[in-house]
Amino acid sequence: MRRVVVSDDYRELEIWPSESFDRYLKITEKEVKRLLIDKDNLVDVLCPACDSDRKRKGFNKFGLEYVECMDCKTLYVSPRPTKENINNYFVESAAIGFWHSHVVKETLKGRIGHLFRPRAIWVANLTEQYFEKPVVFVDVNSMYIEFLEEIDRLNLFQNKIILDPMIDIEKSLNGKKGFKLVNKPIMKIHSTEVNANAVTAFAAIDRIFNPEKFLRRVKLILIDGGLLFFTTTTISGFDLQLLWENSKTIFPPDHINLLSIEGIVKLLERCGFEIIELSTPGQLDIELVKNAMQNNDELKLPRFISYFLKNRDKNAHRFFQEFLQQFKLSSHVRVAARKK
Ligand SMILES: [Zn+2]
Repeated sequence: MRRVVVSDDYRELEIWPSESFDRYLKITEKEVKRLLIDKDNLVDVLCPACDSDRKRKGFNKFGLEYVECMDCKTLYVSPRPTKENINNYFVESAAIGFWHSHVVKETLKGRIGHLFRPRAIWVANLTEQYFEKPVVFVDVNSMYIEFLEEIDRLNLFQNKIILDPMIDIEKSLNGKKGFKLVNKPIMKIHSTEVNANAVTAFAAIDRIFNPEKFLRRVKLILIDGGLLFFTTTTISGFDLQLLWENSKTIFPPDHINLLSIEGIVKLLERCGFEIIELSTPGQLDIELVKNAMQNNDELKLPRFISYFLKNRDKNAHRFFQEFLQQFKLSSHVRVAARKK
């Protein structure tokens, strides 16, 4: 298996600067209660990864219930707000405005730049392995222009389609050759409209109402043998398993699907994809647990973990984090899959 090390998506925000992130969580909680908690409009769903109906109670966050799939151990929100309400949330919510106007601009901009080049190179290297002359690239629910600029710099794809972006991106694309903005949801795209060599969808699976439908639609817009690249947060990871309801990563609607590693495999197989890479290059599991321990006196951790974190040095912690990466036990997962 390819073993790679890159930063977690944006989980470093949970550590620093935590004030912005804590404020984001507070606004999110308020907005979830305002826009999403509508008892008559919540719908029961099966496990979004393996389709099982066997589940056990997890915990409540911001008024919504997380349940655990008894078959694949995926953690997910059920009953959950409707697809329409979730979509509406991402347009209306003050939390999303705060994220882009404060969190990203003030604290993240300079630091995330370095994330996008490795990510674009990852996409390019694998695409070149499978296609001599790839033509069409699609980014679904784009969040950051910086990533698209890195893709552009590669000079690999003739046509780059920005599909249903999460940000106002039109101005940023002005004057850039080869880009096309398509402002409609992927579910409304017909298979004849787009024939992609490569599709990317970063941190999208976590918040999509129905990941299976989403992946089946991605498959439709890929040519035979086309590649899908995505990142997501997995409940199989060290810090999420340990911290569970105390994890600041787990909250709706940003993370309503926390698929287990086994769940991701089952889901991709069911949707007709062959996995060519599934790795957990996350770097922050240990840091996040240490952080939670420092900020919450009531937090009870297993005796060994607490001893290990307090009484061993950075070197030991680094080795342990590498072990987590190597054995798919970090919470940040990235996947490349090929249309069968
Ligand atoms: Zn399941």
